[in-house]
Amino acid sequence: MGFPISTDKIERRHYINGAFSESSDKGTFPAKSPYSHEKIVDMCEATAEDTNRAVAAAKAAFPAWSNLDPYTRGGYMKKLSELILQSNHELKQLDAMSMGRPVSQYFDAVFTARMFEQYATLGCEAKGSTSLNTPGFVNMVLRQPFGPVAAIIPWNVPTMMIGMKLAPALAAGCTVVLKSSEKAPLTPAKFAALAHEAGFPPGVINVLSGHGTPSGATLSSHMDIRCINFTGSTFTGRKIQAAAASSNLKKVILELGGKSPALIFDDADIEKAAGETAASLQMIMGQACIANSRIYVQETVAEKFKTAFTAIYKAAKKGDPLLPETQHGPQADEIQFERVKAYLQSASDGKGKLELGGHATKVDGTGFFIEPTIYSDVPEDEKTQREEVFGPFVSINTFTTEAEAIAKANDTEYGLYASVYTNDLSRAMRVAKAFESGLVGVNCTSPTAASDTPLGGYKASGQGREGIGYSLDEYLEHKTVMVKVNDVPGLDAAKVPHA
Ligand code: NAD
Repeated sequence: MGFPISTDKIERRHYINGAFSESSDKGTFPAKSPYSHEKIVDMCEATAEDTNRAVAAAKAAFPAWSNLDPYTRGGYMKKLSELILQSNHELKQLDAMSMGRPVSQYFDAVFTARMFEQYATLGCEAKGSTSLNTPGFVNMVLRQPFGPVAAIIPWNVPTMMIGMKLAPALAAGCTVVLKSSEKAPLTPAKFAALAHEAGFPPGVINVLSGHGTPSGATLSSHMDIRCINFTGSTFTGRKIQAAAASSNLKKVILELGGKSPALIFDDADIEKAAGETAASLQMIMGQACIANSRIYVQETVAEKFKTAFTAIYKAAKKGDPLLPETQHGPQADEIQFERVKAYLQSASDGKGKLELGGHATKVDGTGFFIEPTIYSDVPEDEKTQREEVFGPFVSINTFTTEAEAIAKANDTEYGLYASVYTNDLSRAMRVAKAFESGLVGVNCTSPTAASDTPLGGYKASGQGREGIGYSLDEYLEHKTVMVKVNDVPGLDAAKVPHA
């Protein structure tokens, strides 16, 4: 079948200390197309030795990078932003090739270019405060970068993840080791080439490809990494937090899984609600952490909603993710495909009612495709109702009262995104307040989000927040400096520490 980018032009090596290199043991893993199953390239698999080398480079680069003025740091970031925008088309194709993301749904490069552009100027906001409230003292709170930090990212939106994590870290003055996902290593490797072209000093940005073990595990337990920002499954998030706790208690920022509810009340615009909630599931074939995978509709409008939702949900054009008309591509790889198939089996053994799909399929005679699938009347304790399926799979259940809808929405360990559709403003605000969720959509749903508001989860969906204006703080330590300037007769400041 072939690929639109010649494979000998695809970067497959690690980027450590300003140079591209093979793995220390020459180890590789294949990046394959989930559509044609063809091998694209053999990516380098980072060993513990490669990972340690990248951390050492980030550590060595930290003093000079953190001592630069923010405008100089911002200059590199602006250049990188321009290069990312110029590479939009190539980045789009690389994700479509490696993890089946339809090019028609790709907005990541523009998002990430904007992140770097914005943080290029936000670096000068990394500053502290002063206090004269202790007599005889001028006290100050310094905000200083953590040191070398690690970023471990998932495969579903790799370019966006780079923007969310690296732009604020670099602006804060941290240096970074990024590990990409083994399922989508091509865009992060291309990003490394762009960072090199932008002229960042060696060691400021290091990019590794490879699996969770050994490289990811080495980073999360590394004694020289002071902060780790992870996006991925709750399962892996727990491991990373445990590794941090048992090594140097590094700061851990976690953006994890979701099982997001959407509540549709009978006074809502039903056609609009159906269209938007279906689109949320169609995004990356349901492989989005914020997909509204549990829908609850008020009983009186349930049939009308299901009819409208089904018509839109099944209509997505399936096919080659590299073609602009394709809206539904294959699942990311064979592992994801088999995982979703196991959930389809579990659902068919369960007590819900199959409304649409329910099977794995082939399109153009190939690919890891799953049919858009709807179950209704799913008992709340079914496995598929409680766990993140991460595929084109949705439950549509009903409710009668507002209190019941809220209770069902919150009956989950996750809390990433929740939506409510209603034309009753008071109800919308009551429900928004009651949701146990880091993001709430009123008359809108995921992927709608604003990049300048905090993004993150309640409960097992994570800790810490990302987003312009919020992430910079995550990479800055607080340091209190007390300066005694004079004695105050009759007052011993040491005895009034909270003056
Ligand atoms: P994953 O947890 O399997 O892998 C994520 C990353 O962790 C990969 O780079 C992987 O190599 C690495 N990893 C695996 N084991 C590791 C270990 N022991 N130590 C260190 N690193 C390790 O997740 P995934 O399948 O790549 O991504 C899908 C998940 O990500 C879903 O649960 C989804 O909800 C979540 N996600 C969350 C957000 C968010 O903003 N909250 C965004 C996108 C995806």
